[in-house]
Amino acid sequence: MGMRIDLHTHSDVSDGTDTPWAVVADAAATGLDVVALTDHDSTAGWDEAAASAREHGIMLIRGMELSAAFGPRTVHLLSYLHDPETPGLVEYAAEIRESRVGRAQRMVDLLAEDFPITWEDVIGQTSEGTATIGRPHIADALVAAGVASDRSQAFESLLHNGTRYYVRNALRPAAEAVTLIREAGGVAVLAHPAAIARGGILSDASIGRLVEAGLQGLEVDHRDNPPEQRARLRRLAEQWQLLTTGSSDYHGDGKPNRLGENLTAPSVLDAIIERGTLEAVAP
Ligand code: AMP
Ligand code: FE
Ligand code: FE
Ligand code: ZN
Repeated sequence: MGMRIDLHTHSDVSDGTDTPWAVVADAAATGLDVVALTDHDSTAGWDEAAASAREHGIMLIRGMELSAAFGPRTVHLLSYLHDPETPGLVEYAAEIRESRVGRAQRMVDLLAEDFPITWEDVIGQTSEGTATIGRPHIADALVAAGVASDRSQAFESLLHNGTRYYVRNALRPAAEAVTLIREAGGVAVLAHPAAIARGGILSDASIGRLVEAGLQGLEVDHRDNPPEQRARLRRLAEQWQLLTTGSSDYHGDGKPNRLGENLTAPSVLDAIIERGTLEAVAP
């Protein structure tokens, strides 16, 4: 039996529905040996996740999923084992979290012209520990108001980036985000590089530019990457000597993604631990 390693999950610090403690406990109960907590633009769940990892006998990789811009698109960069106090990355993550509030309020203002939804409804869908607000919380408010049946349907109908309710986040260029991750001693991996529904697939040349900036890996095995795209990403990884990861992108009840549905090879985990500044939290 090989090690079961899932390097991409979310708690209610961002847009997952479970606490950091529960995500790690569920990961252990599912039979994972290693789990990474990678909330959007925040490391606020790390300490609770680490305590849960020690309690439940599972290895924790501390990570974060950082938002960035690539031209008109938003891309997500997974940062593993970075120093959470390096000013550049700390400031950029804080800047995103702050600008997300005004952006979500603008989306709610637009939605409120047509649907029974208020900002208070959206805040009501967050928890005490929520540091990063996003469309999923607006989706939950729309579900509570009876406007949508679940998060996925809210995204398909009203919240995707082609609707008149969509407002972009103010984000820095992805190459700069990669630089900030590397300067903080993190391992930078491009999340779900071929997730079409999120506004288009990055070309080989675009990924190449991020590699020049210091990108070290591609998240190949992810449910949003179609099979033929995974083959392309593996070829690029071989060509450019990049790590390839596989992960669930678990969001609790917020998405159908299940813990451990995609896994990362032990040799890749070893390389991430070797290159990252922080230690893994060992059981
Ligand atoms: P935001 O960063 O606020 O633009 O929201 C993007 C987040 O919405 C992503 O991190 C996903 O977790 C979530 N998301 C995107 N598409 C869907 C979907 N179809 N169903 C549920 N959640 C989604
Ligand atoms: Fe998310
Ligand atoms: Fe993502
Ligand atoms: Zn994610």
